[in-house]
Amino acid sequence: MPDSNSQTDKTLGMLEHISRRDFLNSTLLASGGMLLGSLSPVQLLQAQEGWTGYGGIGDYSSSNGNTWDVLLAGHQIRDGMFDTLPANLVDTGETYDCVVVGGGISGLAAALFFHRQSGGNKTCLVLDNHPIFGGEAKRNEFVVDGQHLTAHQGSAFFPVPFPHSFIARFYESIGLPSPRLEYQKWAGSSTEMTLPTTPYPDTGKTYGFYFGAKFGQRPGIWLVDPWGKQLAGAPISAQAKDDLLKWHAGDPNFRRPQYEGDEISRQLDSITLEDHMMERYGISRDTVRAYLSPVEGGGSGLGPDALSAYADYAADLLHPMDDSDATGAQMFPGGNTGFARLITKTLVPNSIPGPTTVEAVCGNRVNSLALDQKDSSTRIRLNSTAVWVQHEGPPNSAQFVIVAYTQGGRVYRVKARTVVMAGGSWTTRHIVRDLPESHAAAYDQFYRSPCLMANVACRNWRFLYKMGISGCRWFEGIGNYLEVRKSQLWVLTRVRFRRIRRLCSLSKFFTPTRD
Ligand SMILES: Cc1cc2nc3c(=O)[nH]c(=O)nc-3n(C[C@H](O)[C@H](O)[C@H](O)COP(=O)(O)OP(=O)(O)OC[C@H]3O[C@@H](n4cnc5c(N)ncnc54)[C@H](O)[C@@H]3O)c2cc1C
Repeated sequence: MPDSNSQTDKTLGMLEHISRRDFLNSTLLASGGMLLGSLSPVQLLQAQEGWTGYGGIGDYSSSNGNTWDVLLAGHQIRDGMFDTLPANLVDTGETYDCVVVGGGISGLAAALFFHRQSGGNKTCLVLDNHPIFGGEAKRNEFVVDGQHLTAHQGSAFFPVPFPHSFIARFYESIGLPSPRLEYQKWAGSSTEMTLPTTPYPDTGKTYGFYFGAKFGQRPGIWLVDPWGKQLAGAPISAQAKDDLLKWHAGDPNFRRPQYEGDEISRQLDSITLEDHMMERYGISRDTVRAYLSPVEGGGSGLGPDALSAYADYAADLLHPMDDSDATGAQMFPGGNTGFARLITKTLVPNSIPGPTTVEAVCGNRVNSLALDQKDSSTRIRLNSTAVWVQHEGPPNSAQFVIVAYTQGGRVYRVKARTVVMAGGSWTTRHIVRDLPESHAAAYDQFYRSPCLMANVACRNWRFLYKMGISGCRWFEGIGNYLEVRKSQLWVLTRVRFRRIRRLCSLSKFFTPTRD
C-alpha cells in the first residue's frame, strides 16, 4: 500500500482500504480489467507514467522489478541500437583487472572471489542496470498504518548448509556464522497457529485450497487441510483426486541423482519435468497441467512442459541439511537480498554503515556514494546497462576487452583485462560481440520468461486465521498461491502477531519469449 498522494495512486485506488472480501476478489477484478481494457500491450507500455508502479520506501524504493528505464535499455539492445557504438562514446579512461556485468548474487560473488584471490590488489568494476544491486535478490519496504513491512521481490529462501561445507564457510566469511535465523514469536491470547518461515506453499493442517467458478462453485468453496482430508470434498474429478494423492504421497523407490552428471541426472535432463512427473507418479498430463504446473514451474518462469526434469533436483545437489523440520528453510525479511547486502558489505566495507552483522547490514541504509569510489579496489556502478562487450583484437591474443555501457542516455567505455558475464543470457547473447559459436548455439536454447511477483499488504489477516489457514492455493484467475509467514526478527520489523499486518505473496508466470 502506498503512502504517497499522487494523482496516479488515487486514480488507481491505491489509497483505498482493502476489505477482507476484496482481498481475493480483487485478483479476479484485476484480470477482468486486463481482459476488458481497450489498450494493446504496446499502448500500455507507451503509457509509461506509473508503469514502474509504487516501490515503497528505503533503499529499494526506485527498484521494484524491472523498471521502465531498465526495460527501455534492454529493448534498445534487442532492437540493435548498439550494434555499432555511437560517435559520441565517452571513454572514461578506466582500465580494470576485471569487469563483472551484472550485480546480482552471482556477479557480486564473482567480484568477491576475484577480490580474495587477488589479495585485494587488483581492481574490479561491477556494472548493474538497476538502481540498486541484488538482481533477483532484492526487496521492497512499505509503511502500512505506521508499520514498517519488508518483503522480497524474487529470491526468497535459503536452506541451511552442512557445517564446515563450502557454502557454510562462505556464509561465515560474509558475516552469517549462524544460518538458522530467529523468527517472530506468537504473542497475544489467541491459540497459536503454526506459520512457515517462507512464502512457499506449505502443506500442513493450516493450508487451504480454494475452488471457484472454474469448478462450478459460486460462491467458491474452501477445503482446509486438503491433504489431511485426502481431498475429500474437493470438486474435482475422481481421476484428478487420485493423481494428486499419488503425487503428494511421493515415490519412495525413486532414485535421486547423487551428483551432477551422473546417469540419473543425465536421464532426467533428457526429458521434461512434466513427462517425469507423469512417469514417476503415474499421473495424467491433464492433472499436471491443471494443478501442478504453476507450483512445480516455480521461480523458473517456464512451466514443467518446457523445463528439464533435472531442474527439480539440481538444488538438492548442493546437499543442504534436511529441511523437513520447521527450521530448515530460512529467510531474511527481504529474502535473499540479505546475501546481496552481506557480500556487498564485505566487498565495500563502508557501503553499509555499522558492523558486518545481519541486523546492521539488512537494517541500515546503503550508502550509495560509497559503492563507486576511485580508491576502492572494487567498485559497483549502478544504473549502468552494458551494451557492448568485445575483445580488443583477436580473442586468443587480445590483452583487453572493451565494455561499453549506457548511463543516463550516454554511452561510456571502459577497458578490462578479464570480464565475467553475470547478467543473464537475455542480454549476454546480444552484447558479447565475439561470442564463440558454441556459446551462441547454447544461448539459443535458453528461453526467457517474464515473471510477476506482487506483494499485497493485508491489514487484517484474521479472516484467514478464523478459517484455520495460513496459506492457500487456487487454480484459476491471476496468481496461484499466498502465504502468511513469520518474519525473521531484526530491529526494524519487530512486529507482534497480536496486531499483525503481513505481506502475502502472489505470483503468476507468463509466456516465455526468446528475447
Ligand atoms: C521469482 C523467483 C523466485 C526465486 N526464489 C528463489 C529462492 O527462494 N531461493 C533461491 O535460492 N533462489 C531463488 N530464485 C533463484 C535466484 O533468484 C537466482 O538463482 C539468483 O538470484 C540469480 O542470481 P544472478 O546473479 O545469477 O542473476 P540475477 O539476480 O538475475 O542478476 C543479474 C543482474 O544483472 C543485471 N543485468 C542483466 N543484463 C545486464 C546488462 N547488460 N548490464 C548490466 N546489468 C545487467 C540484471 O538486471 C540483474 O540485476 C528465484 C528466482 C525467481 C525468478
